[in-house]
Amino acid sequence: MNKIKHLLQTFLLLELVKGLALTGRYFFKPKFTIQYPEERTPMSPRFRGLHAQRRYSNGEERCIACKLCEAACPALAITIDVTEREDGSRRTERYDIDLFKCIYCGFCEEACPVDAIVLTEVCEYHFEERGTNVITKTELLALGEKHKTRIDLNQKADAPYR
Ligand code: SF4
Ligand code: SF4
Repeated sequence: MNKIKHLLQTFLLLELVKGLALTGRYFFKPKFTIQYPEERTPMSPRFRGLHAQRRYSNGEERCIACKLCEAACPALAITIDVTEREDGSRRTERYDIDLFKCIYCGFCEEACPVDAIVLTEVCEYHFEERGTNVITKTELLALGEKHKTRIDLNQKADAPYR
């Protein structure tokens, strides 16, 4: 019985007809062509793009140099050197992320107890010189300032699911 079914399918080209019917159905449907970069698709608040470091509203940097992000990073992309302030608080002296090593998994963001390191929506960047793939603390803080509004909105949107 199976043999007859197989023979019929082969000679009547049923699989081909099914495929053509599917193509025909999509041929007349509206097309979704995005004119990038003028037009953009919506982005998830959880999008994992370029990193940034955040500050509190009083200007103090959030990072407390606990090194949890460095420990959680599976690509060993984060390098942190810690220093102690006069008041005894810990802060990072050096906070580098090697973007060539980074796999944008977001584990650093998840591990951070004070929401200091975040992955932003920024996905359009490039490097022109050797070494610029390592993003420093100063650059991370500057990115945090530049994209503050967007980062805050995304954090708020994602808060109920964290
Ligand atoms: S996104 Fe992942 S790979 Fe990149 S720095 Fe964070 S933990 Fe490391
Ligand atoms: S970014 Fe967060 S997890 Fe990483 S050292 Fe600073 S406070 Fe700790």
